[in-house]
Amino acid sequence: MTRTVLPRDVTATPTDVTTTPRDVTTTPRRKVLISGASIAGPALAYWLARHGFAVTVVEKASALRGGGYPIDVRGTALEVVRRMGILPQLREAHIDLRRLTFLGADGDEIASIDPHTVTGGVAGHDIEVRRGDLTDALYAAVRDDVEFMFDDSIDTLDQSSGHGVDVTFRGGGSRTFDMVIGADGVHSRTREFLFGPEEQFHRYLGYCFAGFTMRNTFGLFDELMMWNTPGRAAALYAVGGDDVHAFLNFAQPGPPYEAFRDPQAQRDLVTDAFADAGWEVPGMLAALHDADDLFFDAVSQIRMPRWSSGRVALVGDAAYAPSFLTGQGSSLALVGAYMLAGSLAGRDHGAGFAAYEHSTRGFVTANQDLVGKGDAALFPTTARALEQRNAMLRRLSAESAPSPATAASSASGRPAHSALTLPEFPGS
Ligand SMILES: Cc1cc2nc3c(=O)[nH]c(=O)nc-3n(C[C@H](O)[C@H](O)[C@H](O)COP(=O)(O)OP(=O)(O)OC[C@H]3O[C@@H](n4cnc5c(N)ncnc54)[C@H](O)[C@@H]3O)c2cc1C
Repeated sequence: MTRTVLPRDVTATPTDVTTTPRDVTTTPRRKVLISGASIAGPALAYWLARHGFAVTVVEKASALRGGGYPIDVRGTALEVVRRMGILPQLREAHIDLRRLTFLGADGDEIASIDPHTVTGGVAGHDIEVRRGDLTDALYAAVRDDVEFMFDDSIDTLDQSSGHGVDVTFRGGGSRTFDMVIGADGVHSRTREFLFGPEEQFHRYLGYCFAGFTMRNTFGLFDELMMWNTPGRAAALYAVGGDDVHAFLNFAQPGPPYEAFRDPQAQRDLVTDAFADAGWEVPGMLAALHDADDLFFDAVSQIRMPRWSSGRVALVGDAAYAPSFLTGQGSSLALVGAYMLAGSLAGRDHGAGFAAYEHSTRGFVTANQDLVGKGDAALFPTTARALEQRNAMLRRLSAESAPSPATAASSASGRPAHSALTLPEFPGS
């Protein structure tokens, strides 16, 4: 069943014309359909509505999806949320992680350090929030101005008429939009409609991971503990409340495509990978089997030669997922949404999509390049590399100096997360 939330201005202005105080005109509002209501989708909806577009968001889940591991908002993305007016709310929700403790195979402590020394963040400036707090804030900022259709998705897309995109919905019905934007994540169906199978654009980084919540029976408070052996990491991340975020990351030779749609296969894969592991891992595996919020995926990036075709374009993970190894997925989604909406303001779809790519690709690439070919500094796959990492962590713990892995900068010399200066667009 489709639940449609009508926007405030649709009920107020049945004639479908722009009536914002900023731009009083009788030009018909261009209609945009966005697929996906997580981070990129609502952020894009917000900015498109500000630029005078009539926006509909279709989300396959029956409601806004909360949950997920805490995520970072840094650098240029902080300016996006500031301009949206949600920065104070996010600062309120900020998780002030006190300590990161690394453990060896037997659970023995290797090093205990200030989190900012390895995340590349800036203490007191960057934000780390529960993923659900960010989606809630974005949704609250936009829900009155945009039409949301939950529990539905695009069934077919046809732009052959040349005048718009004819869309049919799984829940029934068809409509025509001026543009369609896929904000539907790494495994984007919009991308598949447009460009074909994911495999062409999927850059596998050599790991799979599972995230879920479990009871905090460990006495942890605002801290993260990470256990490692070569090719395996288990982490417990306590951010308040009665639960901890559990995270299991493991090296895997190829992407397990068959497991992506099969939660039981995912549980089996993780259980096999951690079968003989020590520390708290057996309890984590038991919790994994009962978890109702399991998030499993390959650690991978999406790299595409272009982000649009005709009247359809992609934003966020659908176009350029950077992987959690960069800590930049949500920030790229926020910045990409701002840049796409601003690029479309006052331009037709062709010129707008070209401007979006031209202005944003360098920033995206600089952030994706923070990860080398699978050699994630925090997740070494050999005993030697693990020993080197541990030596580095011991040094960091003694010196509190930023790690070389996260001091990575773009060609401009600025840190990758700040490599784009956000332009002002008319209406933003
Ligand atoms: C429930 C959830 C938990 C997550 N947890 C983690 C985590 O623990 N660690 C991590 O690194 N990343 C996690 N992510 C991904 C993280 O949110 C993104 O990497 C990042 O924030 C970029 O956001 P995005 O909006 O581009 O994509 P995503 O956050 O992936 O959002 C895509 C949205 O599109 C919707 N969607 C997908 N297919 C369709 C379709 N065919 N039709 C309509 N809607 C569709 C999805 O339900 C989702 O709401 C999670 C995402 C979700 C949805």
